[in-house]
Amino acid sequence: MSTTSGYLTYKCQVQGISVTKAIEAYSTQTCPVCQKRHKPKGRMYRCRYGYVSHRDTHGAKNILSEQLYGIFTLMQETHIKYLRVA
Ligand SMILES: [Zn+2]
Repeated sequence: MSTTSGYLTYKCQVQGISVTKAIEAYSTQTCPVCQKRHKPKGRMYRCRYGYVSHRDTHGAKNILSEQLYGIFTLMQETHIKYLRVA
């Protein structure tokens, strides 16, 4: 394995996890409620129309919703965990 994605695919296959590559374009900039784009400042993504989410989970949720539903749409937050490395 010479690439990071190749190594990740290998490690997932060992655990029986499928890997799908997704295009992440605009996932951190697009509001899943109003579909408008802006670049977030700081750790929180805030839309002028009220949507607020942690910046890291915001992008991840948009990528997941696009894979599941074909669009960036609001998804229910359920116990999102992330590791913060200093
Ligand atoms: Zn919005």
